[in-house]
Amino acid sequence: MHEKMKENRKSEIPFAIPQLGDKEKEGLCGVIDSGWITMGEKVARFEKAFSELHGQEEAVAVNSCTAGLHLCLRALDVGPGDEVMVPSLTFVATVNAVLYVDATPIFLDIQSIDMPHISIEEAEAKYTPRTKAVVVMHYGGYPVDLLEWRSFCDTKKMMLIEDAAHAPGIDGVARLSDASVFSFFSNKNITTAEGGMVMARDPSVVEKIRRLRGHAMSTDTLARDRGHAYSYDVTMLGYNYRMDELRAVMGLVQLSRLLDWNEKRRELSKIYRKRLLALIPDVVIPFDQGDETAAHLMPILLPPKARREKVMKQLRDVGIQTSIHYPPIHLFSYYRERFPDIILPKTEEFCKRELTLPLHPLLTKNDIAYVVDHLKKAVEQSTI
Ligand SMILES: *Cc1c(COP(=O)(O)O)cnc(C)c1O
Repeated sequence: MHEKMKENRKSEIPFAIPQLGDKEKEGLCGVIDSGWITMGEKVARFEKAFSELHGQEEAVAVNSCTAGLHLCLRALDVGPGDEVMVPSLTFVATVNAVLYVDATPIFLDIQSIDMPHISIEEAEAKYTPRTKAVVVMHYGGYPVDLLEWRSFCDTKKMMLIEDAAHAPGIDGVARLSDASVFSFFSNKNITTAEGGMVMARDPSVVEKIRRLRGHAMSTDTLARDRGHAYSYDVTMLGYNYRMDELRAVMGLVQLSRLLDWNEKRRELSKIYRKRLLALIPDVVIPFDQGDETAAHLMPILLPPKARREKVMKQLRDVGIQTSIHYPPIHLFSYYRERFPDIILPKTEEFCKRELTLPLHPLLTKNDIAYVVDHLKKAVEQSTI
């Protein structure tokens, strides 16, 4: 890590931190010196490297995961009158994208508080002939059962979309779905500051996503610059969701470290689990720790009696930053107004008790001991 970043970190233990260093700086300087900063060869290289890592032919880089979700839904022809099943336990962008295309979100509850992925039983119960797709989300980096969802979607003739913002570089992710979307926002497992990536299994869908990303123009700036094309046509309503060379060059550097960082995150999660179980047995740790996780988050559920705000404040006072993933979407004012009366008991209980502990590859065993020891005290004191 760069010295300046270390200084900025002080004695705090942040819940997430971007890891940027000299390689990223060199890359950025190289792009600036090259004189070509908008979408070009670096973007193409980043797309190729990312798709190869996930066993796919192609990927399309975009300027955010949110934009990628929007493009997937557009390219898969999801629109007015269609229903899309979604979790409420996710970042708001997952469901906003459904509203961007004027489709109707159908919120599904989670399986249980220690298995907080959306439930197939709920999907079965809420399915209607208008249900066109489901967006699953690999909460915390723990992948949903994609085989099970694929077979459910095949039976119902629905499309399967992965919001894979938390799960880059995990075996199985992006292989069975109709489309998958990743995020490179600053707190994700790899970052380009802002950015995203889309993959799809049907090459014609990939092509449509590629077109929609750049105003649905029939030629791109680079081709025109090179004299390969002189004019262009517009065949659909497109957007400017392009990634640029600066972000792509950072992405390439970050991607080369993704698998090591994921491994480090998994190791740290294991250390957390052991210590939490030993010291605070009444917290719930969602998911079984397996090797198939990008360990993006370290979520726990506080005991029902613990007061979360008090716990968070007490931890902040000793330099430990925590977070909440997530406030449930169906309870946000905007969503309540548009979709009143939605009740998801398990999601609501999960979201009331959830606390996200610091997790990033720079964390040490000592940091974890410090966090868990202070958490134990904070939980005890908050319940008095
Ligand atoms: C971060 C995140 C997004 C949005 O990603 P952006 O790249 O910031 O648009 C979407 N879904 C989930 C689950 C996320 O964590």
